[in-house]
Amino acid sequence: MSLLGKFFETNIKEPYILVCSSKSQMLFSKELLDKENIDNELIPTPKGFGEVCTTAIKFDKKHKNKVKRITNENDIEVLSIASLENKYKYNLSEIYDMNISKDFKDIINKIEANTDLNKEEVKYLLSIEDEDEYNVLIRTADIIRKECVGDRIELRAAIEFSNYCIKNCNYCGVRKDNSTNRYRMNKKEILNVVDNLYKIGIKTVILQSGEDPYYTTDKILSIVKEIKDKYKMGITLSIGERTQEEYKIFSEAGVNNYLLKIETASRRLFNKIHPDDDFDDRIKHHKFIRDSGIRLGSGGMIGLPTQTIDEIADDILFQRDYGVHMIGFGPFLPAKGTPYENESKGDLKLTLKVVAITRIVCQHVFLPATTAIASLHPDGQTLALMAGANTIMLISTPSHLRESYQIYSQKNMVDLSFTIKSTKDSKRKLPKYLNYSYLKSIGYDIDDELIK
Ligand code: SAH
Repeated sequence: MSLLGKFFETNIKEPYILVCSSKSQMLFSKELLDKENIDNELIPTPKGFGEVCTTAIKFDKKHKNKVKRITNENDIEVLSIASLENKYKYNLSEIYDMNISKDFKDIINKIEANTDLNKEEVKYLLSIEDEDEYNVLIRTADIIRKECVGDRIELRAAIEFSNYCIKNCNYCGVRKDNSTNRYRMNKKEILNVVDNLYKIGIKTVILQSGEDPYYTTDKILSIVKEIKDKYKMGITLSIGERTQEEYKIFSEAGVNNYLLKIETASRRLFNKIHPDDDFDDRIKHHKFIRDSGIRLGSGGMIGLPTQTIDEIADDILFQRDYGVHMIGFGPFLPAKGTPYENESKGDLKLTLKVVAITRIVCQHVFLPATTAIASLHPDGQTLALMAGANTIMLISTPSHLRESYQIYSQKNMVDLSFTIKSTKDSKRKLPKYLNYSYLKSIGYDIDDELIK
């Protein structure tokens, strides 16, 4: 059974999707469907039905004619209305002869036919120990990654603009009660960094902070508007829980993505690690963000104290069933001065399995090779890229502030040189959109072969 019922009610038995030509057309269609009481959900457009990281509307087959009529009457630019039964099929024939169990083969057949995996199957994959089976899992994810998002690494630059936080999450190094040098960047300082990122050709900037009410809606909006006006860059906000109204305002101001991780889809564990947050509220925030039209970034930590394989299977299925566009899974890393400072860190191989299974289950989405996995192991980023990940976040916080943004200890300051190395090592390509002549002029050694 799908997890959907566990997190929210759904009446979609035979899924159809509506794909529109733009975000505004999609949101307008959703409004019309809501008005006519047609159950619907926003999901990442599946492979074969449109561009990666766009949003489609899922509804039940029984409303097909009504949806056609409504979109027609309202002059919606429809790209397609199609049954999800005709999902894209993958070719995994190279796996057939490999040395794996009968149960695993059955799962591979389901993946090839693009039939949704159930929780037992996800747990089977998570529990793989055998080296051959592990390699098959990683290879399968790599094939699906290539089909869905190609060989080009997507680069995002993160500016950690404030480490003030009103919350006391047990795992986090910038939790309110932890003693650390607190800083806030002003608009001018943030724009200065953005200007540099623009020069090197970065297309999307992530503005990340603790939960810091100092940055009111108006302050955030004024930063967002200036970045949009001057640089036309994509913007991801990662500033914690805000109100439903604020997400709508951010969406209207052109914010493209909002990163607010579920961290764990287990109510028990979520409430244990977040003394100031509530699991049901976090679920509501996921819905608010998604329904505002902003693409939702979620994901979580692997290896949290007391976390079970059963719970990790739920974490993965949650991302699929909640229509998440960007899914960052990284290992839990103990942070100095926190209640969890003496706990053990997450396991590399388990985290890589999670990345691989997430690619297999969620497919047409962006998966970062997280900073956390790059911090756990020197080859963590490369290994994650080889296990289904396709996105890297460059830490672009001014160097004198970086040391103060230690959400976990010994954080890897993933920069462009490190990224170039991981791209090479994983036999992937750097995006064409970077400004290579400028980068070469400031000393980067980049082979043209590496660019796509
Ligand atoms: N550039 C970072 C973005 C982190 S987003 C990356 O790619 O990993 C902030 C997230 O960091 C949180 O949502 C949480 O999932 C993670 N985080 C915070 N404290 C952590 C800890 N102690 N160990 C591991 N991950 C942690």
